[in-house]
Amino acid sequence: MDLGIAGKWALVCGGSKGLGWGCAQALASEGVNVVLTARDGVRLEQAANALRAVAPRAEVRTAVGDITTPEGRRAALDAAPRVDILINNAGGPPAGDMRAWARDDWIRALDANMLAPIALIRETVDAMAERNYGRVINITSSAVKAPIAALGLSNGARTGLTGFVAGLARQPALAGRNVTFNNLLPGTFDTDRLRANLAVMAERAQQPLDDYTGMRRRAIPTQRFGTPDEFGALCAFLCSVHAGYITGQNLLLDGGAYPGTF
Ligand code: NAP
Repeated sequence: MDLGIAGKWALVCGGSKGLGWGCAQALASEGVNVVLTARDGVRLEQAANALRAVAPRAEVRTAVGDITTPEGRRAALDAAPRVDILINNAGGPPAGDMRAWARDDWIRALDANMLAPIALIRETVDAMAERNYGRVINITSSAVKAPIAALGLSNGARTGLTGFVAGLARQPALAGRNVTFNNLLPGTFDTDRLRANLAVMAERAQQPLDDYTGMRRRAIPTQRFGTPDEFGALCAFLCSVHAGYITGQNLLLDGGAYPGTF
């Protein structure tokens, strides 16, 4: 299927690895020009070169910076001639107990997982509407649908973004101009972040890492973790010309782990 988006410009936040990288790769493979952002400039350039190698049709640019800061967002926006596709993504907040979280911890979580995406949306969507095409994808978490107690900072901040997006997506001034907003909710995906988390959790559970990882895999109906490629493929479809009638949705990608009917 031709997704019909070759030549568009995408800003992929947190695009140097993991789920952001999966989205960038899928979009660039469709001929979408991509701006990748991340804080570590060396790894970002490596990712950009890898992308150029697999997707020679696409122009790939980079913007080093922290997307939770105004400067990081300015650098990201300035690197693209325009933003047709916005993939909002950043690291998730740490696990813990609410008794240990001070106001600053909450502000950091809100900045990364709610306010930075909203700031980028604010900067880009009116121009998308003028051009009669726009796609905003927010990478959130399955924890929005089924909260994970230890991830209270994430549950709170991402649910705030989800509520905001639900209202915005339904504004005729945007939806009626072919600007769509959807959230992708990853369950357990095989990325550096997951591997780091598993190492910590295995140690806490006093289990060998392989045993603990196997137990986590077996707890998922598909008996495996998801891959960034699978994640990117759905992202690219939602950004396609074929997905203009899908907006304001929360799409769970979790190998069937969520046990409910809906
Ligand atoms: P990852 O492999 O650690 O990749 C994160 C990417 O974001 C990297 O490119 C990282 O590069 C960049 N990044 C992080 N913080 C940033 C910041 N402040 N400014 C700019 N770039 C930043 O993580 P992932 O597994 O792909 O996860 C992506 C998102 O999905 C996270 O919010 C995570 O909590 C959420 N999620 C993931 C899973 C999963 O199973 N993997 C499940 C649920 C939710 P730099 O470090 O160089 O900046």
